[in-house]
Amino acid sequence: MATLTVLGGSAAGAGTGRGCSGYLISTDEATFVLDLGPGTLTELRRHADFRTLDAVILSHLHVDHVLDLVALRFALAYNPVRPPGLVPLRLPPRGEAFLDRVADAFAEPGKAGAFFPDVFDIDEYDPASVLTIGDARLTFAPTVHYVPCWAIRIAHPGGGRALVYTADTGPAADLAGFVAGCGVMVAESTLLEPSEEPFSSRGHLTAEEAAGLARTAGAETLVLTHTWEERGVDRYREQAEEHFGGQLLLAEPGLTLEW
Ligand SMILES: [Zn+2]
Repeated sequence: MATLTVLGGSAAGAGTGRGCSGYLISTDEATFVLDLGPGTLTELRRHADFRTLDAVILSHLHVDHVLDLVALRFALAYNPVRPPGLVPLRLPPRGEAFLDRVADAFAEPGKAGAFFPDVFDIDEYDPASVLTIGDARLTFAPTVHYVPCWAIRIAHPGGGRALVYTADTGPAADLAGFVAGCGVMVAESTLLEPSEEPFSSRGHLTAEEAAGLARTAGAETLVLTHTWEERGVDRYREQAEEHFGGQLLLAEPGLTLEW
């Protein structure tokens, strides 16, 4: 058994009743979250006990993917579990230095050092290695984005097809091999048309590019995420439908998918 529950789906600012990036994964032996952007903790609480998560894993350190980590920190601090346990927090490289800066900003004077370690077991993952959470095995691939960012592939614990989360990426990322054969792809599709940035350094996909990546992978299901409601959610769907013939879903809080 493996389940994806979408916690948000909006691009860089939370939408109407739809937070930013956050995805809950449940398997027989593990319950963990990929990214925890603003507005996602409230949805997470509908589906899982935040105190007993097996991990929070961050793809990159942009605010729309990490901000509710601060809210989770306070929720854990004021609602400790018995016996006390720390929620594993797995950060991308250089994430610990980032966390120190966040703690400096939010902690009471002199208490920054314990701000996150009081509630999280903090470690940086090695993107070149497998990260194991219970029966889930996660691998990583670098994307093209404005800060270092990693796409995440979760092997199906029961031997089925994998799930891939692209995180934030531009079209120049070399992801074809990484996504090949996945059954479900959660792909960012921030754009409806390419920005004026050079192709090589653009940090987001169009819906057409997201659909093309899912088609290349041979995915059965594409979940479009990281979208702006101001641009018209149906327009993302229409554009992707022209380039992907499988099941097409739009990320919204509570969307649940067995994979
Ligand atoms: Zn980003």
